[in-house]
Amino acid sequence: MKAEITSIGTELLLGEITDTNASYIAFQLPLLGIDLYWVTQVGDNFERMKECLERAWKRSDLTLTTGGLGPTEDDLTREAIATMLGEEPRVDPDLEQQIREFFSRRSIEMPERNIKQATLIPSAEAIPNPRGTAPGWWVERGGKLLIAMPGPPSEMQRMWEKEVSPRLRQRLGHEIILSRTLKTFGHSEGAVDEMVSPLLSATNPTLAVYAKPDGIHLRITAKAKRREEAEKMIAQREEEIRSLFEESIWGCDDETLEAVLGALLSEKGLSLATMESCTGGLLANLITDVPGSSAYFKGGMVAYTDEAKISHGVDPALIVRHGSVSPEVAEAMAEAARARLGADIGVGITGVADPEEVEGKPIGSAHIAIVDGKSKRVIRGSYPPLRPEVKRRAAYHALFELRRTLLASK
Ligand code: ATP
Repeated sequence: MKAEITSIGTELLLGEITDTNASYIAFQLPLLGIDLYWVTQVGDNFERMKECLERAWKRSDLTLTTGGLGPTEDDLTREAIATMLGEEPRVDPDLEQQIREFFSRRSIEMPERNIKQATLIPSAEAIPNPRGTAPGWWVERGGKLLIAMPGPPSEMQRMWEKEVSPRLRQRLGHEIILSRTLKTFGHSEGAVDEMVSPLLSATNPTLAVYAKPDGIHLRITAKAKRREEAEKMIAQREEEIRSLFEESIWGCDDETLEAVLGALLSEKGLSLATMESCTGGLLANLITDVPGSSAYFKGGMVAYTDEAKISHGVDPALIVRHGSVSPEVAEAMAEAARARLGADIGVGITGVADPEEVEGKPIGSAHIAIVDGKSKRVIRGSYPPLRPEVKRRAAYHALFELRRTLLASK
């Protein structure tokens, strides 16, 4: 099957957004054994869109479009497909009902212009989109296939995973492919690669190593005739990997480190406070990305200068004696955060994100302290010497070490 992607939206041509939808689909197609031959971007211009779609329809077996399914006047994908195929769009009563219900669930009356999202042509079938108002279109005629999906990545990805990919797989008479991602922290990409090297050459299940901001991910992918078979293959490989990495594996698939930590804090009924220097509040930001984090996160302070650290309760003598980037100051920051905000656990982070050494300490070095009134841990971090990298790594490192501390505590 020869496929082609057409990404629709003037924002793409103006450079205002990056075409992550095309990258996502391009990554997914080989998993189905579909060859991708062309990727085109076109603005919200009816004629040029029609021209692109005509060309794609002619030269490819499968055309995948994203964007332009909204209710506004410049959302023209449906109209361009209909014109290209010479078919008349008509309002589908079931779809209209669904869209009206989508609005009424939010206690909003449906604006009349949304009615065009309820249209279909004779060759199109609607693809459900529970995350938005725009259904997709599954268009089939004369052995050719065109699939139109919405632009917002979360809507498009859900539609791909739950609707489009299973249907394409079935159509291609494929085997089942399942994946599981195990997420590690604390080992470098090279070290992880070395630890799993005997498993990397296996062809089913396959194993791939990816470096991500929250650690090194290991993706296991198994292919089988039946789902249970693929699940069993994944479970066996997962067990082998877990025995190699033990507690360095903090989560899998869609789990995030901040949510894993949040669940542990909730389970133990403990609260947390932070004082950050080099991470500039990134740790607090990650913690508060989790819905319901107010149940365990008391708050955080960004104490960037020495004066700020002192005003938040760090002993100036420690800064003079050990320097602001030191285990002692990290610990004092953690203690001060814990005391000032009345939390069970305090975290302090101080490090060097600057392009130059500070107090003779190398760029990319940091200290993370975790205190709980009974015990303390100060961990040294060493990260790639680039400012965003130091901030990100140090914040995720703190989350990981907090998780480790909580797992070790009774
Ligand atoms: P809506 O119903 O929200 O109007 P739509 O199908 O009409 O959806 P667009 O209006 O084209 O989609 O795009 C909506 C938003 O989705 C864009 O502002 C952008 O944030 C995101 N988006 C669109 N196309 C892409 C793309 N190719 N890659 C990444 N993001 C995209």
